[in-house]
Amino acid sequence: MHKSPATLALEKRRDQLTPHLVQLSKHAWLSVAEDVSNVGMIVGKDGIVLIDTGMIPDCAHRTLEKFREIAPADSLPIKAIIYTHGHGDHTGGSPVFCAEGDRPEIWARDNFGSEAAPFERAGLMPLFKARGAMQGGFQLPLEKRICNGIAPIRYPRAGGAVFSGKTGAVMPDHFFNGDSTSLIIAGVELWLFATPGETDDALSVWFPAEKVLFCGDDLYRSFPNVYPVRGTGNRDIPAWCSSLKLMTELEPDVLAPGHTDPFLGREAVHEVLSNYREALEYVYRKTIEGMNAGKTPDQLAEEVRLPEHLARLDCLTEFYGNVSWTVRNIFGSLVGWFDGNPLHLATSFTPREEARRILAMAGGEGALRRKARTALEQGDAPWAARLADHLLTLAPDKKEYLLLKAEALDALAESMFTATGRNYTLTTAQNLRKRAQNL
Ligand SMILES: [Zn+2]
Repeated sequence: MHKSPATLALEKRRDQLTPHLVQLSKHAWLSVAEDVSNVGMIVGKDGIVLIDTGMIPDCAHRTLEKFREIAPADSLPIKAIIYTHGHGDHTGGSPVFCAEGDRPEIWARDNFGSEAAPFERAGLMPLFKARGAMQGGFQLPLEKRICNGIAPIRYPRAGGAVFSGKTGAVMPDHFFNGDSTSLIIAGVELWLFATPGETDDALSVWFPAEKVLFCGDDLYRSFPNVYPVRGTGNRDIPAWCSSLKLMTELEPDVLAPGHTDPFLGREAVHEVLSNYREALEYVYRKTIEGMNAGKTPDQLAEEVRLPEHLARLDCLTEFYGNVSWTVRNIFGSLVGWFDGNPLHLATSFTPREEARRILAMAGGEGALRRKARTALEQGDAPWAARLADHLLTLAPDKKEYLLLKAEALDALAESMFTATGRNYTLTTAQNLRKRAQNL
């Protein structure tokens, strides 16, 4: 089958996501793509400090083995682990590292886990776990996953989501509040900076002696993930931009992200930090301008695009974050669900009513089904899926329509760059097929 540009781009990205160890500076290393997240190591006088732990115990064992070839366990025990934020893909490997010797200090911000907290309080974790597993592609066979955009394919043992950093992780026991704090661990001076971005609880680790900055998930080689499809509250873009500015002002020689390869050399680091900030500021500004001009999220999602000089960059390609989802989340976070179209205030006009009328306009059920089939054959997968939705609204258990929608979603997924959206779409197709089989 002919491969789409999106598939080819994700395959190229997959090939960059093979496990490897990068020496960042004289005493700092980064284990890249062994696990879902990267794991950093700083070697001190009488011990080592780890930045994040990855998610999966088997991967954590392999990472630790690699680190121990450089820093032997008997003379250099793990003195501390620092969590850059409270996502499970950065914390779930901690039991492996904590089991090696004496329990290390575990550092985090005092609002650690703040993103998941409202959903835990609301009792919404079943929904987030289900959607998290769909965006992660955990139920998909290997050949359908390619890669996760910023991470290699891994299957968590329980098949669960990685949303909450508290699941299966050793909890932090050292916290800092305020903007920053300095520490001496294993004879190494480190600074922790509060850098809210992808999450409010994010921190960056600054190793000033060698000018290495570990920035967690505030930056990696993809357009930033302002809206994950599993769902999230607000991700504060102005605060995120301030964090990127702070990172720039430190003038790092090396930038070690929570996923994907590090950036080496002061110029390269400066450039990526500037471009990232410009992209976020641009999308935010354009969305706000459009909102004030009375535009709806649908209109803005279509209109707001990165300028060409940013869109063509590898580190801003929509492998993981997505510009139009960002636009919708800015709108929704600031204004709520009402898009400004008064038709959506009326509750009498239902999807069933619309489907009935579309069906009549098309010339009946058979005619609409044929139009959907033709759209699919002509490569117009979104339209085929839309028409299949109308058919399913009126006949939710009709096997033929379930299979038609599944086929349309598979074709649609083929054109999607953003791995999480692609996984979600393919998983939905798989679920529709399962439902059809069980009828
Ligand atoms: Zn992450």
